[in-house]
Amino acid sequence: MANLDEQWTKVRKILEEKIPSGSYNAWVLPLVPSELCDGKITLLTPHGFTAMTLKTSYGDVIAKALSEVFGENLNFEILQDEKLLEAYEKEQKKSKKSDRTQTENQFKESKYDGLKQMLSDCHLNTKYKFENFIVGGANKFAYGVSKGIAEGKSLGNPLFIYGGSGLGKTHLLHAIGYYAMTKRNKRVKYVTAEEFLNDLLEHLYLGGEKETFKKGAEKSKKMIKFRQKYRDVDYLLIDDIQFIAGKERTEEEMFNTFNTLYSAGKQIVITSDKPPAEIDHLSDRLKTRFEGGLLVDIGIPDLETRMAIVKQLVNTDGAIHLSLEVIEFLAQVYKNNIRELEKGFNNVNAYCSIFEKEPTLDVVKKAINYHDDKKQITADVVIDEVAKFYGLTVDDIKGSSRLGKIAYARKVAVYITRELLGSSWQFIGDSLGGRKHTTIMVSHKSIEDEKRISSKLCDEINTLFNIINQL
Ligand code: ADP
Ligand code: MG
Repeated sequence: MANLDEQWTKVRKILEEKIPSGSYNAWVLPLVPSELCDGKITLLTPHGFTAMTLKTSYGDVIAKALSEVFGENLNFEILQDEKLLEAYEKEQKKSKKSDRTQTENQFKESKYDGLKQMLSDCHLNTKYKFENFIVGGANKFAYGVSKGIAEGKSLGNPLFIYGGSGLGKTHLLHAIGYYAMTKRNKRVKYVTAEEFLNDLLEHLYLGGEKETFKKGAEKSKKMIKFRQKYRDVDYLLIDDIQFIAGKERTEEEMFNTFNTLYSAGKQIVITSDKPPAEIDHLSDRLKTRFEGGLLVDIGIPDLETRMAIVKQLVNTDGAIHLSLEVIEFLAQVYKNNIRELEKGFNNVNAYCSIFEKEPTLDVVKKAINYHDDKKQITADVVIDEVAKFYGLTVDDIKGSSRLGKIAYARKVAVYITRELLGSSWQFIGDSLGGRKHTTIMVSHKSIEDEKRISSKLCDEINTLFNIINQL
């Protein structure tokens, strides 16, 4: 029988196909098999948070890959190993230098210039790809569907991705475009709804002056050009559609563009901060069109995913090296918005290089202007706020009543504790009066499912996030 390392290499090959590359590189690649005994394989990792992430997000995939390679159903456990952590941190420092020379060489390739031009014609930002999108529970579905659409699968038209600010909608939109264009040779156009509106105005009015309408032939020539630009594509990617709501002329043009592309079987992908039904002032006919496609929401990534995002930033060229403690701290501070998290990281990076300081926890707090006097958010704080919000007591939530209202609030408390604090299922169960971890998992899942169809629940959860974050 082949040795354990060889077997593991085979498992890794299978996982590489099944797990998105950002997550695969962050979590699977650093795993080292340690032993196989009593039907269980033990894997070591440098990072403490790997185990939970892999188990919750990819437990089934890993179990299946193990049974394919080993020919039997194996359990697996993932343990953190200090020695691996040290080795990993050393390796990171070294590899940053060699990465730099490699990218410089790539830039010199002339082929790259042609591609760069094409991408900029389509308004695509090459910073945003599937490879550097970190996948976790809250964005897994949005990622999966986006990738499928980019690969040409018919999953829904339009694909409508909605969610709060800074959660990766624009990133996914560009990633779809980049993939479809570079891997499948498709014609792609990315546009924000605001650019679409401005472009339309420019084509409709002379010199931007509203009074001087373009007339006759000149106007129709201009409009043909405008229409070609958005209709002569395989993928139209429209960002922040909410911007055109209530702007009648733009909505009409968008409606016609939509219909032309739709009936020609071309893919449309749209993002928004809200689901179509909730976009104020958007015309009913656009709402109906958008709702006829596939609606997908993108949520706030959990703690592990946020940490992996910071780790990815740390690994970019020229960036500062941060300890895991600091990475976790940043991911804890910036809970609701990845754009803010990136800004926090950039502040730390700039601060430490300008003042030539080592990024200790204290230095990092200064760099991001963080004060310790904020109330520490714990599971108990969350339970307390959720109880108040629904007009209940903490004892109601922790108690055994199955009354609809109480059970609902209890599930919301589970969901918020998990999303805000990234606590383990068992810990949440203990905090809620000693409930089983499986009960907690089921509660979390039921809120996740219900959020997809209930805007009332989405609103309640967002309000609670805000209340708790401002404590
Ligand atoms: P939105 O359009 O939803 O407001 P963006 O797509 O602009 O958010 O994301 C804000 C920033 O956060 C971008 O720099 C993006 O690359 C980054 N980001 C968001 N989600 C992820 C993720 N899952 N993995 C890596 N980076 C992410
Ligand atoms: Mg955006």
